[in-house]
Amino acid sequence: MPTAPPATLPTTPAARLRAVLDRIATAAARAGRSADDVTLIAVSKRHPAAEVVALRDAGQLQFGENRVQEAADKFPELKAATPALGLHLVGQLQSNKAADAVRLFDTIHSLDRASLVRALAKLERVPPCFVQVNIGDEPQKGGCAIDALPDLLAQAREAGLPVVGLMSVPPAELEPAPFFALTAELGARHDLHQISMGMSGDFEVAIALGATHVRVGTALFGDRP
Ligand SMILES: *Cc1c(COP(=O)(O)O)cnc(C)c1O
Repeated sequence: MPTAPPATLPTTPAARLRAVLDRIATAAARAGRSADDVTLIAVSKRHPAAEVVALRDAGQLQFGENRVQEAADKFPELKAATPALGLHLVGQLQSNKAADAVRLFDTIHSLDRASLVRALAKLERVPPCFVQVNIGDEPQKGGCAIDALPDLLAQAREAGLPVVGLMSVPPAELEPAPFFALTAELGARHDLHQISMGMSGDFEVAIALGATHVRVGTALFGDRP
């Protein structure tokens, strides 16, 4: 089973960030990797903008949100004030919100179907995209089926979209390691070397298996309200 995040977190944003960065450094060192090759994305969904500001002030610059509207409410001012801030869309994207999404987000982690490829291809500027794979074959989850990945990648590349990697979310109730290993293997097979996987409960396992981007919410912000 995935290990749960610690029940009690350090009390200040800076201390929580330090703790997560230390765990990333330790996991990377154990895997013979450089911590610089792992990008921490602070997933701030459902947490107020003030908490994002506090973490930004502690030095964190990459943030993730799962809904376009919530990000549009929280981030424009912050992004204007902090040009180096990177915003990552980690939740499902409806085709009719694609234009709004590319205006706001610097990276999309949830490209998962042909209709979204077509919607994005019509836009002028598309940020780097990860193709999300439904790695546990769960009907309720986003992500393209493993079998459909080669076709979707071909369509995205044909349309000129900047596909940089794969993203996955393993089934919540299962040991994540085999799903992380499969995600990395699929990435290698398709020459995609950025791998977005690992959350608060399992990011160290993900780093051991090749994650280049970990998406951490609870361990940085506490439980979501
Ligand atoms: C919410 C979310 C996360 C962060 O989850 P935590 O368990 O709070 O770290 C990561 N990835 C995605 C896609 C999410 O929706």
